[in-house]
Order: sequence, then structure tokens, then C-alpha cells
Amino acid sequence: MRACGSGTCFHAGENEAMSRGLTEALESWDSVRSSELYGVEAWGNGFFHVTEDGYAAVRLQNSSGPVSVKFHDIVQGLYQRGFSLPILLRFGDLLAARIRAIHEAFAKAISDSGYGGVYRGVYPIKVNQQQQTVADVVKFGRELHHGLEAGSKAELIAALAYMHDPEAYIVCNGYKDAEFIDLALSSLKMGLQTILVLEMPGELDLLLDRAAKLNIRPRIGIRVKLASSVGGKWSESGGESSVFGLTPPQVIGVADRLRDLGMLDCLELLHYHLGSQVPNIREIREAIREAAQYYASLVKEGAKMGILDIGGGLAIDYDGSRCNCASSANYDVAEYAADVVEGVMEICTAAGVAHPTIVSESGRALVGYNSVLLVNVLSTRSVEVPEAPKPLPKPIPEPIRNLMDVAAGLRTRNLGEFYNDAIFYREEIQKAFKHGDITLRQHAEADRLFWHILTRIRAELPKLRFVPEDMRGLEDIMADIYYCNFSVFQSLPDSWAIDQLFPIMPIQRLNEKPARLAVLSDITCDCDGKIDHFVGLHDTRGALPVHAVGKDEDYVLAVFLVGAYQETLGDLHNLFGDTNVASIHVDDAGEISYEQELDGDSVGDVLSYVEYNPQGLLARFRELAEEAVRQKRISPTERREILDAYENGLRGYTYFET
Ligand SMILES: *Cc1c(COP(=O)(O)O)cnc(C)c1O
Repeated sequence: MRACGSGTCFHAGENEAMSRGLTEALESWDSVRSSELYGVEAWGNGFFHVTEDGYAAVRLQNSSGPVSVKFHDIVQGLYQRGFSLPILLRFGDLLAARIRAIHEAFAKAISDSGYGGVYRGVYPIKVNQQQQTVADVVKFGRELHHGLEAGSKAELIAALAYMHDPEAYIVCNGYKDAEFIDLALSSLKMGLQTILVLEMPGELDLLLDRAAKLNIRPRIGIRVKLASSVGGKWSESGGESSVFGLTPPQVIGVADRLRDLGMLDCLELLHYHLGSQVPNIREIREAIREAAQYYASLVKEGAKMGILDIGGGLAIDYDGSRCNCASSANYDVAEYAADVVEGVMEICTAAGVAHPTIVSESGRALVGYNSVLLVNVLSTRSVEVPEAPKPLPKPIPEPIRNLMDVAAGLRTRNLGEFYNDAIFYREEIQKAFKHGDITLRQHAEADRLFWHILTRIRAELPKLRFVPEDMRGLEDIMADIYYCNFSVFQSLPDSWAIDQLFPIMPIQRLNEKPARLAVLSDITCDCDGKIDHFVGLHDTRGALPVHAVGKDEDYVLAVFLVGAYQETLGDLHNLFGDTNVASIHVDDAGEISYEQELDGDSVGDVLSYVEYNPQGLLARFRELAEEAVRQKRISPTERREILDAYENGLRGYTYFET
């Protein structure tokens, strides 16, 4: 359930509409209703939509303006190029649009308010470290001098290879050793604007030591631990309990130390980071005021300053609800920028301090929209609508007789009561089986009867004006299972780890009513490898409306907004590796162009990540086959075929290939 889930925003109407949908599959339907049902306009940020002929589509750009491209057409092109699903699509155009949107929002807030400073962004590499994403941020951010944030030595090494803009910042956070510091200092000498942010008080000595050895004047930032803390799922990095950041005495300690060394002019930046996905604008407002006080105080202490770095936290509205719950945000980029600028301005003006350059480290809000994961449905399993059970041979044990009475007496007016009775008697039956009082055959018949009752109850639900709380889960329990060709652990780790909600919808048949409800299962053999919470009209729902999938039909689902944090957090659960990746643009003729197609991991690749050597595996398997030939279990020809199959397997995609 969604974190805000008091359940109060549940509307019986939605349930009713859905259940009605189940029984009246032939009712007229169109793409507009699909768009509403899946909430595309609410979470799509104008990037995604449903076409009139029933396809999910993305709006890309060519020189003549926006072009609508259907996911279905992209997939057909990928098939022709020999790619199979699952595949991750990246849309550079959307990343470019997000970078522009953030800069425009700050530019407008600055000009509207008469703020005296400018805005500069830096992209935190950890949010999506893939080479293509970092290269795209640098490319699309070039004119706006969008810089990079590095939280580790490896990220700094990547940043220094890509960020050569002398007007953009490179902000170094995280734990730093001498090598990290030396690299950052040397880049200053080469003309880059690299700022080393102190995260812990102990870092200052090492930094001063290295700067003296290399004879380079450092540009220093200081990260403060704010008292303001935030809600949401990612809040641990902000607030007093944060492991990063300096406390007020430590901040003053750094200032005094630098003053003694005559180096207060090296202290230029004040930084804080509240945590990612801060859903409530009030918390952002509180924090900016506290941080601006720190900033103004350091100016008064005599530090050079000039830059206030407000970290990340700018949220994405994953469910389109625009509320302050974990998967949403009660503000947009324009409000965010306006509130930040206003807060800094008010406090600095009151303190008589010049307005600083505002730097933000938005990651999620920049790259979240950029990627869409496409998965194909491999098979489906429906809860069968059980026939009324056959009469049982007598004597019938008491709990089963009671359950039969429930079935016989079920009416629309007593649904709630009889539902609870059915649950109760089923438990009695399970207990009786455990004690050996009923046979497996009796248990099987009773189970069939129980599901028969539940199916009938579910069919009656739409007739109720109000669906009792305890019966609302019924549609989820009885939902179909759609087995999809992907691994939740590899491709949507936050869905598994922190119940992050991602919008999901079919990419085709959207002018047909989706008459089934399904939970999605991946192909790892792990019961956590499933998705059972989805964006609903008014609240999270436990099952996704989908179409019945025909035999041999290629039914594809898209998972949206997966550009931030999902790609590298993924683990190799069951040794499913990276998916294929394709970067999609449209050319000036409106044709889809496929750039930077990347093959996903092969089986050999993922095995080598866990220290197997593919050649060694083959050699060992060959021994087994050779021995089998010697023992005349298989023929030499069979040996050859089996070894070929094994080798092909090593070279193949880790996912199901069609
Ligand atoms: C993770 C992180 C960010 C990015 O946060 P988003 O909410 O994704 O924008 C920015 N700065 C620091 C220091 C971080 O650790």
C-alpha cells in the first residue's frame, strides 16, 4: 500500500467501475477512457499519451517540433533489428526537456522576484551512472552549464572525462581519500570548477595537507546537517540523524581553522541534501530557510562563499496524485524553484548578504522520465471460476456442511456476513485437515466450494453502493497472474525494496476495454518477484487492468519513469542480467532512429560476474559429455549437439528469447 494509505481516499466507485468492467467486457471503450484509467495525463508530464487508435506513445522532437511515436512501432523496429524484449528504451529528448524545464523554472523565479544571483545545476552521477546518461546530461546541459556531482572516486573519474565546461561546476561529495582529493585539485589547475565539499569534520586536515603538497588553493564547500527533516521513503540522508554533514559547532570549527590559516577565501559553498523524493513542499521551504541562515552567517564570518547548493530531493509525481505521499509530490518544478529562490532571497536580503548562485543537485527529476522498460507477457494464469462442486459422499464433516449452507444462502443483501462466514469455515476446514479429521479429497472439494463462493461474491460486488473494507482485497486475490519477461530485482529494484510505485500500462489495444485484472510476476523463481501495487484512479490498487491475451499474441507492457536509480542498483537475482537498451530519436522525416543499441548481458557475462569462467564451465561440461559417450549413454553426434546447445546457452540473453 501507498505510504499515505489511510484508505480514506478510496472510492467505492472505482471498485464498482472496475468490477463492472469485468462483467461487461463488451461495453464500448476508447483511447480516452484508457488514458483516464491508467492516469497517463496525470503522471506523464506531457511526454506520454494514448493515440486515438489505441496505442501508448511518446512525444519526441525533431527540427519541425513534437512528433508522436508509438511504442508498438519502436518495438517492431527492434524486432527487425534482431532485439528481443525485455528492453530498456532511453529517450534523450525527454532528458533534454527536463534539463531545460529546471533551468527555465529557476530563470523565471529569478526574474520574477528580482533575485540577484543565478542558477546552476549539477547532475549527481549516482542516480544513473550509465555512460550514455552521463554523456547525454553533458551534451544537453552544455549551453546551460549544467555540471556534475560526484560522490565517489569512480564517479569523479567519470566526471572528469566528460565535463570539460569551464563554467560548469563539478561538486565532489562523499568520502574522500588522498587520491580523490588530488584528482579534484588537479582538475582545478586545468581550469575546471571543482569544489570539494566537506562531509565530515575530519576531512579538512587531509584536504589542507594535499592542497599544500600540490600547492593548489582548494575551493571548499561545507555540508551542513540541517535540523529540518523530511518525510518520504528516502529521508535518512537529511536531518539530524544523517551520517553526513557538519553540526553547528563543527561548521564554526572549520571557519575558525580556515581563518587561522588565512584561507577563508577558499570556503565558497554551503551544501545540504534533504534526501531524495521529498514529497512535501513545506519541508523544502523549511530547509531552505535554515540553510540560508547558515549561508548568511558564514558570509558574516568572513568566508568568500557565493554558492548555495541545495542538494537533490525534487520529487517526481509517479502516481499523478499530486499529494504529499511517498510516490508523489504536492508541487511542481515551477513551485519548487519559486520557493527556493524566495526563501534564499528573503533571508539573505534581511541579513544584508549578496544573493548567492543557487546550485541544485536534482537527479531523479532530471533522468526519471528518460527511460521506459518494455516487457512481454509470456503466459497468463487466471483464477478459474470453479464449477459448483459435486455433491460429497456422506457423511459430510461439519465445517464443510456449514460452508455448503453459506453457498446455498448467499444473497446480495448478506454478502458481507456470508463472506466472513466463508473465510471462517475455510479456516475450520484447514484445521480439520491438519488434524486428520477430513480427507484430502474432501479438502479439495471444500476448497473448490470456497472459491466458487468468492467468485460469486465478487460478481455481486458491483451491485453494492458501498464495498465493506474487508472485501476490497477480493479483486486482488482473484486477479490473474501475468508472467512477464523480466526480473524485478534487476530492472525495478525499488519496486521490490521500498515499494516504489511505477506507472505501468499496456502499449497496445488501448481502444479496447481491459477486461482482466492482473498482478505481474517476473521470471525469477522468487515469490517477491512480482508487482502487485499499481497507480489507480484515486489510490494505489492491487491489480492492473489488462486485456485477455490471445494465444501467440505479443502483448507488451511498459513500465514508465524508470530512469532514476533503477539501472545500477539492480542485483543479479537468479542471474538475470542487464536488459537490452536502445536509445530512440526521430529524424526530420519523422522516422524512428535507433541509436546506441546495447546488447544486454549474456548468460556467460552474468556467470563471470560471480567469478565463473565461461571457458572453464564449457570444459567441465565437455568432460561430463565425454564420459557419457564413453559409457555409451549418448552418441558422439548427440555429444556434439548437446555441447552446441550449452555453448549457445552461454552466449544467449539471460531472459526468455522468443
Ligand atoms: C542522491 C543525492 C542527490 C540526488 O537526489 P535526487 O532526489 O535524485 O535529486 C543529490 N545530492 C546528493 C548529495 C545525493 O546523495
